[in-house]
Amino acid sequence: MEVYQGKSVFSGVAIGKIYVYQKGEQQVRRAKVEDTQKEKDRYRQASETAMKQLGELYQKALNEVGEENAAVFEVHQMMLEDDDFVDSVENIIDTQGVNAEYAVAVTGDNFAQMFAAMDDDYMRGRAADVKDISERLITVLSGGAAGGIQSEEPVIVLADDLAPSETVQMDKEKVLSFVTVHGSVNSHTAILARTMGIPALVGTEIPLDDSVDGKMAVVDGASGCIYVEPDEETLTQMQERKAREAEQKELLQSLKGRENVTLDGQKVMLYANIGNIKDLATVLQNDAGGIGLFRSEFIYLESEDFPTEEEQFQIYKQVAETMAGKRVIIRTLDIGADKTCDYFEMEEEENPAMGCRAIRICLTRPEIFKTQLRALLRASAFGNIAIMYPMITSLWEVRKIKEIMEEVKAELDAQGIGYGDPLQGVMIETPAAVMISEALAKEVDFFSIGTNDLTQYTLAIDRQNPKLDDFYDSHHPAILDMIRMVAENAHKAGIWAGICGELGADLELTRDFLEMGVDELSVSPGRILPIRKIILETDVAEYRKNQQK
Ligand code: PEP
Ligand code: MG
Repeated sequence: MEVYQGKSVFSGVAIGKIYVYQKGEQQVRRAKVEDTQKEKDRYRQASETAMKQLGELYQKALNEVGEENAAVFEVHQMMLEDDDFVDSVENIIDTQGVNAEYAVAVTGDNFAQMFAAMDDDYMRGRAADVKDISERLITVLSGGAAGGIQSEEPVIVLADDLAPSETVQMDKEKVLSFVTVHGSVNSHTAILARTMGIPALVGTEIPLDDSVDGKMAVVDGASGCIYVEPDEETLTQMQERKAREAEQKELLQSLKGRENVTLDGQKVMLYANIGNIKDLATVLQNDAGGIGLFRSEFIYLESEDFPTEEEQFQIYKQVAETMAGKRVIIRTLDIGADKTCDYFEMEEEENPAMGCRAIRICLTRPEIFKTQLRALLRASAFGNIAIMYPMITSLWEVRKIKEIMEEVKAELDAQGIGYGDPLQGVMIETPAAVMISEALAKEVDFFSIGTNDLTQYTLAIDRQNPKLDDFYDSHHPAILDMIRMVAENAHKAGIWAGICGELGADLELTRDFLEMGVDELSVSPGRILPIRKIILETDVAEYRKNQQK
């Protein structure tokens, strides 16, 4: 048995085989196939899809950067159709009886090497293009379905690090646990693990090779350990713990249907955070009163191009309808920093967390924003949708948003398209927003405190930097005082204030939040019932008295 220590992101026990997830080209595995004709058909189909993608990219580039720069995509199309390339792929599938991904990867490597060895500068430069098209083909071939996990059974995913765009594309049914070598406890991958309610570790010093790949392991989210090939005793212990935790979960189920009200009558809204429509099942299972944060940017991260108004409308409508009248707070896209989409074609930034992200993108590229607002407004006719804007620092931003909102409504009116009357709120996740919260409260319907970014910006600690985890004091008095201040300013203006950052799910602070008068907590679905239990057992007046002693 080998034991590796990491930092725990979410507790619980996972038992299963390890799957070493490799990025990019190394992701491809050689797999034997019975039906080579079927593989060749898959390859042909993938090639057609890639052709179409390249055609769209060409058009887009033509409009945005001109013919000369767009030409590269025509070159890629030609390479894709090149007889030698196609023959090589099909030949490898036929003679070796292997999967198309592998045949494409080998062909791509061979051709790239061939180009790289040529004398002519221009031809040498084509090596990168061949790599590019083979990677595109592999993405299409393995795309969506398995989301990069080529395994029949659910596995413990082991990776160097995972970008939100990678985790979001993984088939969640196949993931028992995430274990990464790098990554911070505040990263979006960590948040995703919490939403999925699965044990996860980051900062784990474990080799990413055959010495662990495919081996049986146990992830213990409580101690932050992963046991590879556990001995009998450890395995039994962990199986017992897993069973106990399941029992505990069962017990909490008895709290379903109960109102979130303290012993002295203070009511709290207890909502769920989601990033994906697939999370709705766990939201309902855990009896959430609504959705307090739908991270809509995950729709963008899952797409290969800007999701259309119609695509977005269908998703928002489905969430609203599934929640059947319960409030659904959808946050407008929060792209930027660690959540990047290639097709946004953002310029490289020295300091992306403080760069062009979230509302800043929406206000500088209003066409993207308007598409989303149209979809949200239309969907609001089908349920109780509220809209929330991220990364607000100034009043003018809110006023500008309102102006854009009015323009969008006028356009919908002119087209005779119906919409509801969604509440509009802002995230309080910058120190500036906290300091102007009294004025902001007069402009909006609600506040939701994003403690992840608020902590990052207040303590000047990059939430992505694992080396700073020890300095990331989420209970820092500066943060707690800010939350109190925001709640007070909200109440003065007659609006409510909630918390949708990870701190809202911190059971050690639930009583403090009640005492501060926080009106709503939006947490990962698995945290709802444990928090409800605390709320039901708390006498806020009593707690306040004890605190003052
Ligand atoms: C936050 O910053 O607390 C938040 C909820 O938003 P995100 O984690 O998606 O940045
Ligand atoms: Mg945030």
